[in-house]
Amino acid sequence: MTNKFKPDPVIHADVNMEFKQDEYVPLKKEVYIKKETALDAMAGDGGYQEAYLGDHLRFKMKRDKKRFWAGDNISDYLHEGDVEKLIDEATEAFELVLDRLLIDRENDPNSKGTARRLAKMYFNEIMAGRYDPAPDATAFPNDSSDRYEGMLVVRSELRSMCSHHHQPVSGVAYIGIIAANKLIGLSKYTRIAQWCARRGTLQEELCNDIAREIEKATGAKDLGVYIQATHGCCENRGIMAHSSLTQTTVLKGAFKDDMGTKKEFMDNIKLQQEFAPR
Ligand SMILES: [Zn+2]
Repeated sequence: MTNKFKPDPVIHADVNMEFKQDEYVPLKKEVYIKKETALDAMAGDGGYQEAYLGDHLRFKMKRDKKRFWAGDNISDYLHEGDVEKLIDEATEAFELVLDRLLIDRENDPNSKGTARRLAKMYFNEIMAGRYDPAPDATAFPNDSSDRYEGMLVVRSELRSMCSHHHQPVSGVAYIGIIAANKLIGLSKYTRIAQWCARRGTLQEELCNDIAREIEKATGAKDLGVYIQATHGCCENRGIMAHSSLTQTTVLKGAFKDDMGTKKEFMDNIKLQQEFAPR
C-alpha cells in the first residue's frame, strides 16, 4: 500500500514513546505490557507520566490485569478531575475522527462543537456507568418476626448502548426478588439497573450484570431479571427492523428451580406490562 495512514504528529507524538535514560525512545504499544520496569517508572509517584491520561490509565489497568471492556466499570482507577481531563483528550480524538470522515468541523456551524459534545456525552451520559462508582444503596434490615417474605418486582426503564455499533438500546428491565435479610429503597433497583446499562453492553451481559449487582446490594439469592429492549443496530442499520424486540431472562435460586416462583414472576411481569405498556 502506498497511501499509508500517517499518524498526525500533534495527536500522536508522545503516545508511542517511553522515557528511558533521559530521552524519549519510540516504543511499540505491545512492548508497554511486557516491560514492567518502564511501566513502574511511568506510573510511580513523580515519575514520567504519559502525555495522555487515557494512555496512563490504560497501561496501568493492563499492568494490573484489570479488564476494561466496554461494559466494565473502571471507577476505581479514576480520581477527582480525571473525567474532565479525559473529556479533553477524547475531544481531540473525536476531532480527528470528524477530520477523517471529511466533515468540515471548522466551518460547518452544526459540526463546530460536535467533538466536545460527543466526548461529554460518552463520559457523562451514555457510558457514565463505566466511570461512576456504584450507586449508594443503603440497606434496611428485614429480619424481624413480621419480615416481608413475598416477591418484589420492580420495573426499571433502561437506556443503553450496544458495544458492537454504539447504537442506542432502549427498554425495560423487570427485577424480581424474594427479600433476604435486608431491603433497599425501591428507586435503588432502577439506579443500579441504569448504572449497569449506561455502558457499552450486550443485552445478555446486561441482564447478568443487573442480576449480579442486585444480588450484591440486597443479599437475595432468589432473583430474576427480565429485559425487553429495542436495538438501534437492528432498527437504524443492518436489517432495518423497526419493530424488533429482544427479550432476555436471568433466573437464580427459587426463580430458576421452583416452577411456582418462576410463574409468579412471569405473571407479575405481564401485570406490570398491562399497567404500563411500553
Ligand atoms: Zn449493535
